[in-house]
Amino acid sequence: MVTIAVTPEASNEPRVAVSPDTVKKFVAAGCTVAIVSGAGLRSSFSDDAYKAQGAEIVSSPNDALPRADILLKVRRPSPEEFNTLKPGAIVVAMLDPYGQRTEIETLAATKATLFAMELMPRTTRAQAMDVLSSQANLAGYKAVVDAASKFGGALPMMMTPAGTVPAAKTFIMGVGVAGLQAIATARRLGAIVTATDVRPATKEQVQSLGAKFIAVEDEEFLQAQTAGGYAKQMSAAYQAKQAELVANHLKTQDIVITTALIPGRPAPRLITSDMVASMKPGAVIIDLAAERGGNCELTKPGETITTANGVKIIGPINLAGTVPVNASNLYARNLAAFVDLMISKEDKSLAIDWDDELIKGTLIAKDGEIVHPSLTEKTA
Ligand code: NAD
Repeated sequence: MVTIAVTPEASNEPRVAVSPDTVKKFVAAGCTVAIVSGAGLRSSFSDDAYKAQGAEIVSSPNDALPRADILLKVRRPSPEEFNTLKPGAIVVAMLDPYGQRTEIETLAATKATLFAMELMPRTTRAQAMDVLSSQANLAGYKAVVDAASKFGGALPMMMTPAGTVPAAKTFIMGVGVAGLQAIATARRLGAIVTATDVRPATKEQVQSLGAKFIAVEDEEFLQAQTAGGYAKQMSAAYQAKQAELVANHLKTQDIVITTALIPGRPAPRLITSDMVASMKPGAVIIDLAAERGGNCELTKPGETITTANGVKIIGPINLAGTVPVNASNLYARNLAAFVDLMISKEDKSLAIDWDDELIKGTLIAKDGEIVHPSLTEKTA
């Protein structure tokens, strides 16, 4: 019988790692699910809702962690939580594997088995476990809603007897999962939408959502996608051409949403302070890459600033966490699909196939050692 523990997240993280729906799945698979009272409240999941699906509600982490085979979290657990776990226990979370590297080593030394959900391979089989997609999709939606509320104008064009309200010009930079949802949401609200990316595959996706694609489409652009479907770091020459194109376009935009990321690297710098200075007063930039250094030079993570020329720059951290009900529901399903791989259907015990590509792809530490190639190579 596998015991799963769920403890509350830190005060800045409203999401939770299980939903009543996934508790039901775990219980049906023969697991015990011990949830610390109140862990789901900020996602609107009450203790009673969990209990109704078969969870055991406990009063403190100490009642769950020492007997847990698996700890499910949204963010990296605290060192205290690690020290309370039994050695070898499995931790599944968005562990931020490339951030605060020394702490990762300390946590690995507790001999916990660490799985970082951010490293889930982008394969068809892993789609149901893809936390980056499930959360980025909601972040892309919320960025547009937040931008609309901060912008001093309306998004759709309106013809009224008193005159015409123009549609807001909205520019989406980076057309991954978040960017695509941002385009779709801005279109639904009636904005005129343009978008850019360095991966050629995005052109058709942008057009199919009714937006206009803007990019430097040279030879380098045609090669800019890795086999894994991610963007490559572009050359300085490409970045200069891209910057010129973007600079001219930004001058006319009302709302700009930036989502550009390159895995394992700081976010590419796409909007300089000079570009911001050339933008219209009242324009709003929402920088979804704020946590990874920002796509805009002036972004301050977690803050909203207004420049001398009246441009608002918002650097949200954890936008998905501002729609915690949906974000937790989807995240919990991602985790449940992953944990399902680890439990034997025959005797309901832990049975991990260490050669499974999804297990190997996300395992970052085991038996006191860091094992993920992307982390061992970095220290070499
Ligand atoms: P991401 O969060 O890593 O990056 C966001 C976007 O920024 C990407 O589209 C990237 O190309 C773009 N970008 C990077 N540098 C840029 C620059 N200098 N200028 C403009 N844009 C730049 O991406 P993501 O949302 O994780 O998606 C990456 C890819 O993976 C997409 O093709 C997506 O459809 C694909 N994907 C596949 C699966 C699957 O098959 N299971 C699941 C999810 C996503």
